[in-house]
Amino acid sequence: MTRPIFRFAPSPNGRLHLGHAYSALVNQDLAEAVDGRMLLRIEDIDTARCLPEFERGLMEDLAWLGLAWEEPVRRQSDHFDDYRAALERLIAEDIIYPAFMSRSEMRAHVAESESAGMPWPRDPDGAPLYPDIDRNLPALQRKARMEAGEPFSWRLDMQAALAAVSGRALDWQELGSGPDGETGCIEADPARWGDIVLARKDTPASYALCVTVDDAIQGVTHVVRGRDLFHATSVQRLLQELIGLPAPVYTHHDLIVGPDGRKLSKSAGDTALAALRAAGMTPRDIRRMVGLG
Ligand code: GLU
Repeated sequence: MTRPIFRFAPSPNGRLHLGHAYSALVNQDLAEAVDGRMLLRIEDIDTARCLPEFERGLMEDLAWLGLAWEEPVRRQSDHFDDYRAALERLIAEDIIYPAFMSRSEMRAHVAESESAGMPWPRDPDGAPLYPDIDRNLPALQRKARMEAGEPFSWRLDMQAALAAVSGRALDWQELGSGPDGETGCIEADPARWGDIVLARKDTPASYALCVTVDDAIQGVTHVVRGRDLFHATSVQRLLQELIGLPAPVYTHHDLIVGPDGRKLSKSAGDTALAALRAAGMTPRDIRRMVGLG
């Protein structure tokens, strides 16, 4: 029988804190409980913010914590070709389009509409959905602007994508829970995210595309991560169906919050594992602090 495969997938854009420790340890505990394999994946697609010293730091912190992972470690920045291949497939299926609006043009467009009293639709993270202007561009205009070298991102035509998978089950098995206690078989609702970006001129692949492709390439069967990514799963399920990839089961776990009740950030100095270690804490203390006794 093949063994279940778990992964912990941090981004090296800062030092790891207690929230990461919790997620890594929950992954490891669940993997051990079912004799699963444990992978580490470095999500460094944002090459401007991800730094080699943070990657070294996170490996050091995780090893200190007692996390054991298989080698070689997959680093996303080494695999742009894999993401490009997935993107090409979606281009060929004509369900993604070049989006020319810059962030500031988009902000202005949304502000203008809202100042006229029209609330602009937002995604589950609160970001405004992409306007439909570029999606509706005549093909000739689209081609001319691309040929003229105008910068653009690739965005998913959400309606076309949903039509392409219509009739197929778009759900996932949730072994943890969502923000409203959702658990069990969850119906994915990717439409809430609108025309998501899949590649930008400065980042050749988005988080959603990379994570979907990587989980499949690495044969991940169990995705265990923070509840803040619960709604993002809807998009990943849609991409899996569009590209023809298997769906893992998902466990979204509690988030470790700071004294102010807010999610920890990478700049949360005193909850950084390196700072806690320097202050004399042991890995066992960390386990206790995150409630894993
Ligand atoms: N790289 C993501 C993060 O650090 C995690 C992605 C995932 O687990 O799917 O938040």
